[in-house]
Amino acid sequence: MISQDDALRRDADDPLAHIRQRFYPLSGDQIYMDGNSLGLLSVDAERSILAAVDQWKRLGIDGWLTAEPDWFTLGEQLGAMMAPLVGATPDEVVVTGSTTVNLHSLVSTFYQPEGARRRIVATAHDFPSDVYALQSQIELRGGDPDRDLVLVPSRDGRTIAETDIIAALDDSVALALLPSVLYRSGQLLDIASLAAAGRERGIAVGFDCAHSVGAIPHHFNAWEVDFAFWCSYKYLNAGPGGPGALYVNRRLHQTKPGLTGWWGYLKQKQFDMVHEWEGAPSAGAWQISTVPVIAAAGLLGSLTIFEEAGIEPIRQKSLQLTAYLIELLDALNLTKSPYSFRIGTPLDPAARGGHVAVEHTDAARIVRALKARGIVPDFRAPDVIRLAPVALYTRFIDVWQTAQTLRDIIDAGEHLQGEQGRSLVA
Ligand SMILES: *Cc1c(COP(=O)(O)O)cnc(C)c1O
Repeated sequence: MISQDDALRRDADDPLAHIRQRFYPLSGDQIYMDGNSLGLLSVDAERSILAAVDQWKRLGIDGWLTAEPDWFTLGEQLGAMMAPLVGATPDEVVVTGSTTVNLHSLVSTFYQPEGARRRIVATAHDFPSDVYALQSQIELRGGDPDRDLVLVPSRDGRTIAETDIIAALDDSVALALLPSVLYRSGQLLDIASLAAAGRERGIAVGFDCAHSVGAIPHHFNAWEVDFAFWCSYKYLNAGPGGPGALYVNRRLHQTKPGLTGWWGYLKQKQFDMVHEWEGAPSAGAWQISTVPVIAAAGLLGSLTIFEEAGIEPIRQKSLQLTAYLIELLDALNLTKSPYSFRIGTPLDPAARGGHVAVEHTDAARIVRALKARGIVPDFRAPDVIRLAPVALYTRFIDVWQTAQTLRDIIDAGEHLQGEQGRSLVA
């Protein structure tokens, strides 16, 4: 069963195999396992970026209304295109700002400490930027992060139990800000049950979905999520520094954003230039500044690929790829001595995001050796090799090759050579 032919057969049976041709291979045909940090360039994204540059060249200021699509409502249009990926109506999603900025904007709106309800619940395995942002939001309200920020601990050093998060949602809590997928272990949390627990207790719950949108279907409306935000440059392949996106449930659209700016103004009246706030009656109200047209253009092309492939088939293939990787590590005895890799990602597919965390004491050196052998992983100190076989452009044979290479590296003793530790950008 475990053979190169089997990998090739899986590729031949893959209904999404043809999509790979829409993406540029890296120079030297390296195998890319880092699409959860920065997605690859597609011909579609390249075309839409070049079209935006061309329209700027030809239209100048008129591009705001006459470009195709017009730049003035580009954030709203991209939000509407993305709405099916997250189970939202078109007016509940907008492309704007960036992940951490959107976190600030949404938390400044929905964190309303009052009386004894002052705490924010997050997790001990959150992305650091989120924790920094929450600390500063608490300080802005005169709170003390040591007292008011509750980071739910992990029991196993990798995952966070939903029951532990729910247990932390007591009368002292004003807001919960939670990850959908943990950036290190790749655990997918049960968003529906967490949102429901918050609702029952009158606690607003928001989600950072940077590591799940584009890899996993979301049903924000059905789950009655209050708000969420995510980035476009990971699984959504919009390009480095591509703009962020946010979701605000319709029932909250009358709330005044905590950080207002003219781009969130009622579009028909934005250029009346009056000083009284009248927000857009949509998630668009949470925009602060002018949409970054050239950066957003990459997302425009990229989203057409998602419309064509469909997020459900993408998730299906992604689960097959990650399951295959886990299966190979096992079948090649890589989880035993002398290889001694450990799988840090939940084996239950319902709790698995888009990547597999492969742990090893010599992870940093193994990552360097993988790169030298033409495979691009990423490294999270001290011991995690993240491997993301992205469904849109990764083949089963690539996963096969990656597993074989991990074995070869240990066989050759390359994990004992060279520099320890990470580079500046890991
Ligand atoms: C990638 C990522 C971010 C990135 O934040 P930026 O503001 O876009 O730099 C934030 N949160 C999580 C969980 C991420 O994975």
